[in-house]
Amino acid sequence: MYSQKLHVAILSSPGLGHLIPVLVLGNRLATHHAVKVTVLVLTTSTSPAESQLLKPPSGPKVVDTINIPPVDISHLIDANTRVVTQLCIMVRESLPGVRSTIAGMKHRPNVLIADLFCTEAFPIATEFNIPKYLYIPTTAWFTALTSYCPVLHEQIDGQYVDQSEPLQIPGCKPVRPEDVVDPMLDRNDPQYREYLRQAMEFQLGDGILMNTWEELEPVSLEALRRNESLRAVVKPPVYPIGPLTRPIELAGPKSELIEWLDKQPHESVIFVCFGSGGTLSAQQITELAWGLELSQQRFIWVVRPPAENGADESFFTSGSASDGTPDYLPEGFLSRTKKTGWVVPLWAQQPEILNHPSVGGFLSHCGWNSAVECIKSGVPMIAWPLYAEQRLNATMLTEELGIAVRPEILPAKKVVDREEIEKLVRTVMEYKEGKVMRDKVKKLKNSAENALNKGGSSYDTMCNLLRDIQMRLRF
Ligand code: UDP
Repeated sequence: MYSQKLHVAILSSPGLGHLIPVLVLGNRLATHHAVKVTVLVLTTSTSPAESQLLKPPSGPKVVDTINIPPVDISHLIDANTRVVTQLCIMVRESLPGVRSTIAGMKHRPNVLIADLFCTEAFPIATEFNIPKYLYIPTTAWFTALTSYCPVLHEQIDGQYVDQSEPLQIPGCKPVRPEDVVDPMLDRNDPQYREYLRQAMEFQLGDGILMNTWEELEPVSLEALRRNESLRAVVKPPVYPIGPLTRPIELAGPKSELIEWLDKQPHESVIFVCFGSGGTLSAQQITELAWGLELSQQRFIWVVRPPAENGADESFFTSGSASDGTPDYLPEGFLSRTKKTGWVVPLWAQQPEILNHPSVGGFLSHCGWNSAVECIKSGVPMIAWPLYAEQRLNATMLTEELGIAVRPEILPAKKVVDREEIEKLVRTVMEYKEGKVMRDKVKKLKNSAENALNKGGSSYDTMCNLLRDIQMRLRF
C-alpha cells in the first residue's frame, strides 16, 4: 500500500486532554491507513499512564510511543503564570529532548505532525528535512478565530471581552466577545502573546489537520479554503479528518455501572461529566445535586471535589455523612438517589457510557473530545462551558447545530441555580425541545459515521493528506 513507507511522528504537548486526541489520530493512521506511527509524548512528572488509551478495542498496541522526559520549569514560572504560558514554556524547554530523540531513532520518521501547542517544533522538522503538519484537535471555527487573531489584534483596541459587537472572522460566524478562547480574555497577560505567536506559527506548516468534518462545519471550512481575507492569513491547506474519538471498549467483563445501565429504560439516563480536569465550586456542586434530584431523572455524575479544596483531594474519604455523602453534596443525597443515580468519583468510562442505549442526555463542559464522542453517540447535550475554547464549542452546539441547551448565564460567571438545572435536564430528557435536539444529533451521528467510512469526506481527506505527503517526499 502506498502509505507503507510513511513513518509519522506525532508530537503531543503535556496533559491528558492533549495526549488523547494525538493517540486517537495515531491509532487511526495506523489501523485505517497502514502508516507507521510513533507518538512523542512530552511528559510532566504527573503524566498519567497512557497505556490504556493506546489500544484499539481488545487489540494490541498499534502505535509506538516515546516519552520525552519532563523538564523542570519551576525557575521560569510563578504563581501567576497561566496554564497556556506554562504549557508553551514546557514545550520550549523540551525541544532539545525532541530533537535528540528524533536524531537517535533507529528508524527515523519522515513526517512530523505537531499538536497545536507544539508548533515551535516545526524548525526541528526543517532540520531533518521532513514535512511538518499541525494537528488542531478541535473545530474549523476555532482554527479560523485563532489564525485571524493577529488581524483582530491590529483592528481592535482594548479587551476583546469589552467589545459591544461580535468579532468578525471573514466568512465565518462572528464570535461573541464573551465566547473568545481563554488566552484572548486578557490581552495584557503573557499567555495572549503566546497565543498570538502560535496563531502565526499555525501558518508555517505544510497543512492543518482538524478534528472536524465537512458536514459539521461547511461554512467555516469553506471560509478557510476560499475566503480571500481569511486565506491571506491561513496559508496551508486544511484537512478536516474527524470526528476521531477513542474506541469504545466492549470486550472484557462489564463494570457494575454498565450492568446498572443495562437495566435502565432506553435513553432515560443523563450523564454528567466535566472532562479530564473540570471542577466546580462547592456551591455549584450543591446546586447541581439538587437540580438533578429535582428533575427526577436517572443520572450518572462524575464528581470531583470542589475547586477551592483542590482537585487532588481524595474523594469520599473526609467529611462525609453516614450514608457516605461527601460534605459538599447535600446531606442524604446519595441515599435519596440510590436507585436512580450513580455518583462516580473522578473518572468514568465516558465513551462507553455515552454510547449505551440507556443514556439519553449529556451535561458536558464541551471539551471538543466530549462533544464529538457525544455526537457519535447521538445524544443531545446541556452545554456547560468552563475554560479553553469551550464557550465557542457551546455556542456552536447550541446555536448552529441545535443539539444542546445551555444555562442563561455562563456558569463561570454565576452559580446556576437548582431550578434552572432542573429545567435544563427536563428539557433534554422530557420536553419536545429535547426530542427535536435528539433527532438532529442522530442525523449528525450518521454524517459522522459516513465521513469516516471508506469513500466518506474525512476518509478521503486523510487519503489526500497522505498522497500530498508522498508527493512532498517524492516516493
Ligand atoms: N474522559 C473520560 N472519563 C472522565 C472524564 C473524561 O473518559 O471521567 C475522557 C473523555 O471521554 C474525553 C476526554 O477525557 O475523551 C476529555 O476530553 P475533552 O476534550 O472533552 O475535555 P478536556 O479534558 O480536554 O477538558
